Parts: sequence; structure tokens; C-alpha cells
Amino acid sequence: MVSVDHTVRASSGRETAPEDVVDRLLWQDAREILGRHARPRSDGGCDGCGGAWPCHSRRVAEHALAASRRSWREGWTARHDLNSVRAALSFN
Ligand SMILES: [Zn+2]
Repeated sequence: MVSVDHTVRASSGRETAPEDVVDRLLWQDAREILGRHARPRSDGGCDGCGGAWPCHSRRVAEHALAASRRSWREGWTARHDLNSVRAALSFN
């Protein structure tokens, strides 16, 4: 089965954040994590980490994505959560 995700653009480099985004770096980091934890597998686990869908990383990234459009205060706490996830995943 082939599924097409219309929300993801060509993955060449980082995306440019929309005009209404306050914290663009946070937005970009959140999008990056959402891309790695993009969809549930047929067994119900995350395709990125295998965790129960939606996995912890995805939920934190979704929160960060929303916070990047609001005040810097919310962005700051979301950034902290996002960094915790990035550290836990330890890519490379
Ligand atoms: Zn995941």
C-alpha cells in the first residue's frame, strides 16, 4: 500500500517558517522531529521510534510547533521539552 503525505514538502534543506511563526528555530526543529515520527505503522507503533502512536517525541514536537507561533515564554518551555527529546533520541 502506498500512502502520500501531502503535508510534507521536498526535503532539501530546512523549510522556511511561515510569517506568523515567532520562534523560527523552534519551528524548524519541531518540523524535523515530526518528519522522523511522521506516521503510525500498520502495527500501531510510530514509524520513527516504534513507540505507541502518537509517540512521546511527536507529541512534544506538536506542542513545540504550536508554541512557536505564540509568545516567547511558551516557546521557551517548548524548546526545553524538545531538547529533552533530542537528547534522549541521540542521533549520530
Ligand atoms: Zn516516534
